[in-house]
Amino acid sequence: MVNIGGNVAAVMEKIDAAARARALCPEKIKLMAVSKRHSLEEMLCASEYVPLLGENRVQEAQAKRAGWPSGNKTPWHLIGHLQRNKARKALELFDVIESVDSFETARVLDRILKENGREGYPVYIEVNMSGEPSKNGVEPESALPLLENILGSCHGLSVEGLMTVGPLTDNEYAVRKAFAGLRLLRDIMRRASGLPLPELSMGMSGDYIAAVEEGSTIIRVGTAIFGPRNL
Ligand SMILES: *Cc1c(COP(=O)(O)O)cnc(C)c1O
Repeated sequence: MVNIGGNVAAVMEKIDAAARARALCPEKIKLMAVSKRHSLEEMLCASEYVPLLGENRVQEAQAKRAGWPSGNKTPWHLIGHLQRNKARKALELFDVIESVDSFETARVLDRILKENGREGYPVYIEVNMSGEPSKNGVEPESALPLLENILGSCHGLSVEGLMTVGPLTDNEYAVRKAFAGLRLLRDIMRRASGLPLPELSMGMSGDYIAAVEEGSTIIRVGTAIFGPRNL
């Protein structure tokens, strides 16, 4: 196994330095260990060093939950696309769903929550800031209308922020434009809705420094913590 604790410390140090250089408060930035295609043992180890865990598939998370100690309360976030037929499972397995990208999905989640007498379940809206057709997420222009629809009829959900996956490129302008754009979009949505929308989930192993500098509050890191993923 790689040195997970050492890798987390190294990433934290870089997050800290990047935040301080921009006079941002490093305590507001949470590091998520993205454990997809890594073992339950590695995930458990990471949970001792990070405040959040991320998985991108419901099925894989379900298998891992079966072996997860009930005393370990590190929150799990769903960061991959949610198929509506997996919504019920996702609500059982995850503490937060970061990948809400349609009103239909929001409505299905809301209906299941209401059936179970749950409310205030935290979700983020995933936005496709780069326009890459392969990416999940709503178009930036559609994010506020989606939020308004959710506020109008999905009272089981609590929208707490926005999530994006940065463009797959070394072009710094394109990367920064995506992250700065998500922050701007959040500010616009905050004003329009009156919701605080505190969370900006952006930045992965290859681009988290730029994300920190643009105001990220959740950095989702897999490879830089666990090494390369298993197939
Ligand atoms: C896999 C994944 C990550 C982590 O990617 P790394 O490059 O390994 O850090 C972050 N966010 C999402 C949505 C992912 O699917």
